[in-house]
Amino acid sequence: MEKFIYRFNNQGSNSSLNSKEILGGKGTSLAQMAKLGLPVPPGFTISTRVCEYFYKNSKKIPKKVIQESKKEINIIEKISKKKFGDLSNPLLVSVRSGSRVSMPGMMDTILNLGLNDKTVIALKNKTSNGRFAKDSYRRLIQMYANVVLGIEAHFFEELIENYKLTKGVIQDTELDESDWDGLIKNFKEVVKEKTKRDFPQDVNEQLWGAIKAVFLSWNSKRAKIYRKINYIPDDWGTAVNVQAMVFGNMGENCATGVAFTRNPSTGEKEFFGEYLVNAQGEDVVAGTRTPQYISKNLRKKSNSKGLSMEELMPKIFSQLKKIFNQLEKKYKDMQDIEFTVENNKLWMLQTRSGKRTAKAAIKIAVDMVKEKLISNKEAILRVDPNVLDTLLHPTLDEDAEKIVIASGLPASPGAASGKVAFSADEAERLKEQQQNTILVRVETSPEDINGMHAANGILTARGGMTSHAAVVARGMGRPCVSGSNEIKIDYENKFFKSNEHVIKEGDIITIDGGSGKVMLGKVPTVKPDISAEFSKLMGWADKIRKLKVRANSETPSDTKIARDFGAEGIGLCRTEHMFFEEKRIISVREMILSKTLDDRKKALAKLLPYQKNDFIEIFKIMNGLPVTVRLLDPPLHEFLPKTDKDIEDISKVLNISKQDIKSRIIELHEQNPMLGHRGCRLGISFPEIYQMQCQAIFEALAACKKKKLKLVIPEIMIPLVSTAAEIQILRKLVEKTAEEIQHKESIKIKYYVGTMIELPRAALRAKDIAKFADFFSFGTNDLTQTTFGISRDDAGKFLNDYVENKIFNKDPFVSIDERGVGELIKIAAERGRAQKKYLKLGICGEHGGDPASIEFCENIKLNYVSCSPYRVPIARLSAAQAFLKKNKKTN
Ligand code: PEP
Ligand code: MG
Repeated sequence: MEKFIYRFNNQGSNSSLNSKEILGGKGTSLAQMAKLGLPVPPGFTISTRVCEYFYKNSKKIPKKVIQESKKEINIIEKISKKKFGDLSNPLLVSVRSGSRVSMPGMMDTILNLGLNDKTVIALKNKTSNGRFAKDSYRRLIQMYANVVLGIEAHFFEELIENYKLTKGVIQDTELDESDWDGLIKNFKEVVKEKTKRDFPQDVNEQLWGAIKAVFLSWNSKRAKIYRKINYIPDDWGTAVNVQAMVFGNMGENCATGVAFTRNPSTGEKEFFGEYLVNAQGEDVVAGTRTPQYISKNLRKKSNSKGLSMEELMPKIFSQLKKIFNQLEKKYKDMQDIEFTVENNKLWMLQTRSGKRTAKAAIKIAVDMVKEKLISNKEAILRVDPNVLDTLLHPTLDEDAEKIVIASGLPASPGAASGKVAFSADEAERLKEQQQNTILVRVETSPEDINGMHAANGILTARGGMTSHAAVVARGMGRPCVSGSNEIKIDYENKFFKSNEHVIKEGDIITIDGGSGKVMLGKVPTVKPDISAEFSKLMGWADKIRKLKVRANSETPSDTKIARDFGAEGIGLCRTEHMFFEEKRIISVREMILSKTLDDRKKALAKLLPYQKNDFIEIFKIMNGLPVTVRLLDPPLHEFLPKTDKDIEDISKVLNISKQDIKSRIIELHEQNPMLGHRGCRLGISFPEIYQMQCQAIFEALAACKKKKLKLVIPEIMIPLVSTAAEIQILRKLVEKTAEEIQHKESIKIKYYVGTMIELPRAALRAKDIAKFADFFSFGTNDLTQTTFGISRDDAGKFLNDYVENKIFNKDPFVSIDERGVGELIKIAAERGRAQKKYLKLGICGEHGGDPASIEFCENIKLNYVSCSPYRVPIARLSAAQAFLKKNKKTN
């Protein structure tokens, strides 16, 4: 028969002892601590299965659970030598929730159950502390009324506040026994008025009312929202822990506290924690009194006057120290602990793995390897790769005050403050004056590139996670919040509105690209700090991982950063991004607007030296490592002149009237530029463009050879291919250009030609395409866009509704949609390798820097992932974790 109730100190051989699934997190840790022989107040756990039963059976508790609980209460009575509802020595219990994963503050807890008008007198007599007894009773009525009877908390809080006002006191601690007596009377009147019943005096009614309320709190609105945000399944349910109360507020030889076995901010190996004498747990959290440090060392470090526990209660402190070590040995992780001292006796109330900063996570993992507590493989698995972002970019000072005025997508991590600039020119102007600036645009386009570079951060009103602003900002390592629908920009009058706030050009704002928040004024930031432990952990990860990690980079400065972060090659050099600079963009526009081949060739000739020199620089930095150069793939709307000034500039250069330019723009206008004349379609229509680019690549190689540099083997990549014929034709063009340069420069050049797989048809026809390709690189930005038929630039507007309605778990432009897009990738990989066994496979969409997507790439045996330079360390760690997880599964 299924076991529903588990006693903390008598789990027997039942295999569910360690099962958070059944006991919940709190129940498991209480059981384990009891088993270790630690002082845990007696109690029992009602399993999560009962919660399941409760919801399936019109919210009833099985009879068996009620019978067994009675027996368990008897056992608690025996151990504690108190009796539930007794009139001379009453036992009080707590009823607490506890699901598989911690959901802090989301479900309910009721303390001091077992007090009524009579037992409260017994408690007073037994403890000779009337104030304590009455205070405990009023807390019970308040909590019970709120949690079980559904009476809003403010009715009680107002009574206390008004009473304190009349009495002329500020703190609750200034109220004495008779004050609480009066308030208890008032509280009971509120209960009677609201429920038409008296506050229950039957202690068993109290107990079962509380247990049911905890089960019900699993489905409270806040718990449901929390689960949705944190991807916690609704059917897990909560366990309920019933435990004898212990009191830290019975006098000066009592205390309560919370502690970490190591410093959770720095990771230092030092006991870290706070305690309060003569207080209950909630007093430490509520901040009504300032807690004191537990260790002498910490007290001294922070110049605190209040005596540490080490000084005030030395015996208890040394007992705690021993327990900390025991717990770390058992859990092999830093623990977050709650304890209470009742009349000089220590009680352990909770232990769990403690939350920590990114810096602490790395230090603790590496230190624990040194201490031989864990292996380096375990250390790798301990650190969440996503938190590395906070180590590589400046972050907001946690303690600083923040006034959030808008939010958007967390498009590129890091925090930045500066004066609002509504144009790239203004951002550049401010930069020249050494001023920090945030570029605020409805959306960005290539002509904003200088402004993006000049700005400390970028905020856009439109665009998703793979919009121009997001991709470029990530590549540059600039913080970016994109698609902030709340902001309404008025370029003409130079201000933006966000809810009730009006922000003018020059006003200071702060953006946090890690959370997507926009804040008023300057919020202080904290600089990144890369530690020796970080390098150590990355070194271990590199030894283990099989996936190579490359970077998406097209400028020498980004390429350098990528190398410094450990990139093993460039997986995507977007050549159109090399033309973003002002001088170059004019020539690109000239090329696009040209009507004749001759005009186009003239424009291309101007671009050739730029391309060649950039390639020389990049090849130099990469020093023999692979570099994938993607030939031009500009969706035209990103490059066509938009403003009158752009049109005027280009008309001067081309010596054509503005009117002619405007009509050419109309001619070139596309309804769906993302599905338009871009990618290899440009190469098919205008082979001279790709020819110029290949010439630049090969001439750059020849120049490197002359300089006796270590030669890169370029991987020339053709974008947006959907048929084998396209790559067949364009491959020939590359080969022909290579032959010409080899002949001209009298050198032998080695190179590969491959394709991006970013259209569903290309994935399906991969076998044919692979005949003409030496490698495939999955362009999952476009592949996601074209598989779902969702524009990557506009998705931000409605993706939230999709996540809210549970259509998407996560933004598919951030984390790969394994079932759809992933299926296409698998098909393409299989079909491609069926044609060529050793076809090199990589991914270069934004997903290449997302840990879950990287795990997918490892599982389907890609050769490499490529991501923006700042995500390279994240990808290195994720790749190692993915390998370890895969091998754990297969072992
Ligand atoms: C892609 O589509 O995934 C890709 C890498 O190319 P881009 O983002 O430049 O379209
Ligand atoms: Mg693409």
